[in-house]
Amino acid sequence: MQPPDPRKARYRIASTATVGDTNRHAILGLIRARQPISRADLARETGLQRSTVSLITEHLIRQRWVTEGAAGDAPRGRKPRLLYLNVERARILGVDVRPALTTIAIADPNGRVIAYDTIPTASRPNVFVRDLCRRLQAFLRAHPHVRCEGIGITVPGGVDHARERLVAAPNLGWRDVDLKGPVERATGIAVELENAANACAIAEASFGSSRERRDLIVVTVSEGIGTGIVSNGQLVRGASGLGGEFGHVSLDERGPLCGCGRRGCWEVYASNTAALQSYRQAVHGRRAGATAAGDAGNFDHLVALALQGDRHAVRALRRMGEFLGRGIAMLVTGLAPSLILVVGEVTRAWTTVAPALEKSAAARVSGVLPPIAPAGEGAEARLRGTVALVLRKQFGTAIVA
Ligand SMILES: [Zn+2]
Repeated sequence: MQPPDPRKARYRIASTATVGDTNRHAILGLIRARQPISRADLARETGLQRSTVSLITEHLIRQRWVTEGAAGDAPRGRKPRLLYLNVERARILGVDVRPALTTIAIADPNGRVIAYDTIPTASRPNVFVRDLCRRLQAFLRAHPHVRCEGIGITVPGGVDHARERLVAAPNLGWRDVDLKGPVERATGIAVELENAANACAIAEASFGSSRERRDLIVVTVSEGIGTGIVSNGQLVRGASGLGGEFGHVSLDERGPLCGCGRRGCWEVYASNTAALQSYRQAVHGRRAGATAAGDAGNFDHLVALALQGDRHAVRALRRMGEFLGRGIAMLVTGLAPSLILVVGEVTRAWTTVAPALEKSAAARVSGVLPPIAPAGEGAEARLRGTVALVLRKQFGTAIVA
């Protein structure tokens, strides 16, 4: 396998991000963030000439990305027509691939998820790709009037951006899979493929309430653990393009076996899978815990039990928080982020998890911990990540991704 050349990727970004694109991104981004907004305010905020702003906004209106609404207030003279994002115009499809279940979301150009659907994730990648293509084709046939701007696909594993393939996803047991090619051929729509944690970091840094943050880390907690790292305003990919896999840093080399083949990785202690396992062992004892499902069939159920006050479920989530804190201490010590956002179903039980997490992280960090916050409720933040991959084509990003 040819390793991706990070220099090549940077040149590609620079050559396509022409001045015109940058101004268009800035104006479209401002309209999205501040709508309704007048052309005069756009010129003031961007520092661009009024004539340049008018030219770009006319183009955006012709393309139906932007629409003119009611006239706004003005102290004197003609009242300005205010500009909005045209939410009726287009739809974006987002696909979040996870073990067992894959979610397909439909979002508007504001990045708001309008509806979502799920398909079982077949264990064989070629079967999964066929199922996914069929479902996407069925959606497009059922909505002939919808103009789909792109499909964002996120995967729980490493993506080779030079070859645009999934390299390896330990929790799926997949290696070297082409998801982009078959989906593009089946739908005729461009696909953006990205690691799930990186996609969440792009979404939070560029379109989330934390958009000003140049040094943030997103920790996606699911069947495994992913980290999306934004440092000095750049998404960290490393020389191989596969960097940021803190979920597979070993905390104990004699620890339990991980899906990646090594032992004691952070994710075998702090993922949803780990919490379910510790709950089952507490309820059924060590022998049964390894094989039978306990009362909590899946992690959502475990969270629900904890919220009802089930003591074994609460203890399993506190233990999970304690181990999340250990890994987060490693991230804080090594990278000094200004904010850590946690994405995943675990955020539904944040009041149970957070105290154990913060106590454990604080005990291992010298100095003050940055804020550690949940990024929205449950799986919603992961879907924002899939959609952000397409949105960044239109709006640009606040970071170099
Ligand atoms: Zn591992």
